[in-house]
Amino acid sequence: MTKFVYAFAEGNRDLKDLLGGKGANLAEMTRLGLPVPPGFTITTEACRAYLADGEVPAGLDEEVGDHLRRLEERMGRRLGDPADPLLVSVRSGAKFSMPGMMETVLNVGLTDASVAGLAAQSGSDRFAWDSYRRLIQMFGKTVCDVPGDAFEAAIDDAKKAKGVRDDVDLDSRDLEQLVDAYKKIFREHTGRDFPQQPREQMELAVRAVFASWNAERAVLYRRQERIPADLGTAVNIVAMVFGNLGPDSGTGVAFTRDPATGERGVYGDYLQNAQGEDVVAGIRNTVTLQELEKLDAASFAELMRIMTVLEGHYKDLCDIEFTIERGRLWMLQTRVGKRTAAAAFIIAHQLVDEGVIDLDEALLRVDGVQLSHLMFPAFAMTDAKPLAKGVAAAPGAAVGKAVFDARRAAEWADKGEKVILVRRETNPDDLPGMIAATGILTSRGGKTSHAAVVARGMGRTCVCGAEDIEVGVDRFTVDGTVVHEGDLLSIDGTTGKVYLGEIPVEPSPVVQYFEGKPVAGALVTAVDRLLRHADQVRRLGVRTNADTADDAARARRFGAAGIGLCRTEHMFLGTRRALVEELILATGQDGQAVALEKLLPLQRKDFVEILTAMDGLPVTIRLIDPPLHEFLPSLEELSVKAATGEASARERELLAAVRRTHEQNPMLGLRGVRLGLVIPGLFEMQVRAIAQAAADVRAAGGDPRPEIMVPLVGAVQEFEVVRAQALAVIADVAPDVTIPIGTMIEVPRAALTAGDIAASAEFFSFGTNDLTQMGWGFSRDDVEAAFFPRYLDLGIFGVSPFETLDAQGIGRLVRIAVEEGRAARPDLKIGVCGEHGGDPASVHFFHDTGLDYVSCSPFRVPVARLEAGRAALEGGSSDSR
Ligand code: PEP
Ligand code: MG
Repeated sequence: MTKFVYAFAEGNRDLKDLLGGKGANLAEMTRLGLPVPPGFTITTEACRAYLADGEVPAGLDEEVGDHLRRLEERMGRRLGDPADPLLVSVRSGAKFSMPGMMETVLNVGLTDASVAGLAAQSGSDRFAWDSYRRLIQMFGKTVCDVPGDAFEAAIDDAKKAKGVRDDVDLDSRDLEQLVDAYKKIFREHTGRDFPQQPREQMELAVRAVFASWNAERAVLYRRQERIPADLGTAVNIVAMVFGNLGPDSGTGVAFTRDPATGERGVYGDYLQNAQGEDVVAGIRNTVTLQELEKLDAASFAELMRIMTVLEGHYKDLCDIEFTIERGRLWMLQTRVGKRTAAAAFIIAHQLVDEGVIDLDEALLRVDGVQLSHLMFPAFAMTDAKPLAKGVAAAPGAAVGKAVFDARRAAEWADKGEKVILVRRETNPDDLPGMIAATGILTSRGGKTSHAAVVARGMGRTCVCGAEDIEVGVDRFTVDGTVVHEGDLLSIDGTTGKVYLGEIPVEPSPVVQYFEGKPVAGALVTAVDRLLRHADQVRRLGVRTNADTADDAARARRFGAAGIGLCRTEHMFLGTRRALVEELILATGQDGQAVALEKLLPLQRKDFVEILTAMDGLPVTIRLIDPPLHEFLPSLEELSVKAATGEASARERELLAAVRRTHEQNPMLGLRGVRLGLVIPGLFEMQVRAIAQAAADVRAAGGDPRPEIMVPLVGAVQEFEVVRAQALAVIADVAPDVTIPIGTMIEVPRAALTAGDIAASAEFFSFGTNDLTQMGWGFSRDDVEAAFFPRYLDLGIFGVSPFETLDAQGIGRLVRIAVEEGRAARPDLKIGVCGEHGGDPASVHFFHDTGLDYVSCSPFRVPVARLEAGRAALEGGSSDSR
């Protein structure tokens, strides 16, 4: 029979798939002998079965019963025993951390009967009634969908009636009455009384936690974070320890290093006399761990000892949740902590220096997505006076209009506005607005508040806990200044400063370092070291997509080993468009030859510049690809002019040509090699320009290495015609320059006949943009707006296949072409130049598939270098999470 329940002592940290992150780490801490309250974990497998069948799998309740009995024996108390009750928490915990997205119910086991037992046990009536009202509230909301506002209103009424501000000012009688009010609310909304059977409470809570995997906000969070939808959550049932037993109790969170900068030290927040999520929810302002040392030196010392044990054991930054119950410290959670992109690099580098991990491991601890975050610009040095200062929670420089409501933030962003979401504190319901915003500002909460944790995960700039600002419904005030919705704000997530108006931004130090400028600092040192290591271990080459000398030079500074795609179409735009019009309008070959003659020197000049910028490195030049209409005036404009009699004679002539060449589906029409075969001399002119440019650069003492690439080939016969013409031109113009001739593989038929094509092509480069477009039958210019959001909602794909290569489908075409191409020509050079060439997950796929290089835009070159190194170390696995 399947085992669905594991005692903490039975698990370990490698069982995250089964026990979730929280369960696996609680087990690990138990094994390390750290003070973890006893408990057990119900597996994700049980959750998946529940979600599939709508009921818990057979035998689960019995297995839970067995573990509960053992827990009761160990604690010497029975669940909900009226005289001396054991209480438990029922907590969600998925494989990947999803902060605040799923449910937790605390104090399970409290009933009308056992509340008195808890009072006697704790010596505090107030504590017992407070725990009971919390249970009814959490259970009502989570298990029975009672609106949370109803409970909030009742507690507000109680405070008002008594004339106090804080929950802690309600005494035991007030709370007893509040329990009555809560029970009424529960009955009104559910049609039944609050359950008085402890086991029933627990079983219902377990089911609710299972179900919360599919709560709307959890679904949204998973999509954002690319967490698979079918993992399910584990459920942890843990003996309660209480942080709300009075001033000698409390609860807190801590990091072994600063998660924003990676600096070693003691970072965390502590809240006295508090329970559960109070500390991260920003209900009251927390104190630092240094303050805890003053409050409870013994617990502080024990916490420091445990943090050292955990860092030593996990060999990484850990974050921790703990509770102190009457001076006794308990560990409620640990995990390898989330961190900013900068901290990830700095910490990995530090751990190598400290001898804790080696460079390979360090490289696996960072990723290309983080590196790309570090390439964002930051605020220029400014003497502008900040309006307020908060906690620097997630770095970056964000400028946008203040918006005070998550839904409005999403609406404004949809209209193209940049917004800063300003909230007192955020909660999971604010997620759509947090995703839409460029920055997030809160007045409450520390580095571990919901806003901070979520923003860091998403790479959003965030300043939180800016206590001086008073956030209202449609404005905030600070020192008498009123900031209205729509006013411009600049927030600096690296310093925590908040400015009114727009502050100019400047490039990131990491980009400046790539540019070869003299910059110093821990971050740049770490990036340099890890990238150099990636270069050493990677097998994949990294080239760039560039079609100007400037881009080529920048990419070279960023580490590109050549150009993988030089698109030649821009060389036909701007003032040169008139020449293309002439080419189309020319009747007869002579007229066309004249137009081509005029284009030739212009093209040659472009190529000389690019070949010079990439001297000594390969430059793959693609012959012209887009459909003709992109170089001609618009049909609509010309038609209107003709209809209103404003068209010149030339425009009327052009209109006829535009009508003649008009296509319903131009992306599937006369473009690429087809155009080259239809307009005589066009490709030959380009080849001539390339060969002449190479000869000129060589004559000037350079080392030009052009490669000619034919676009949109679907059949070897197309390629062969172009190749024969090109060889003739090269033999004529530059007989002693070697110019390999190869093809894009971007039409599915080309991939399927790659063996034939490789017999004449000297290299392949996958055009995965077109291959995706044609393989799926998606118009790449239309679908992302038209129906991709719906497809993402439905989970048809987790990420756009234009962003990350669809390894299963389009990837199969790639694999076939690599295999059959290499079978025909073992030394066939193969690269990729579609957008996927710079996408971290896709880079791993291309490594695994045996490509020689990836080519991507200049700014993604460092990202591709890093990921190529990681892919080599991961050796075969393409899971880059
Ligand atoms: C491609 O199709 O992937 C490609 C690189 O070519 P383009 O994007 O110019 O069509
Ligand atoms: Mg293409």
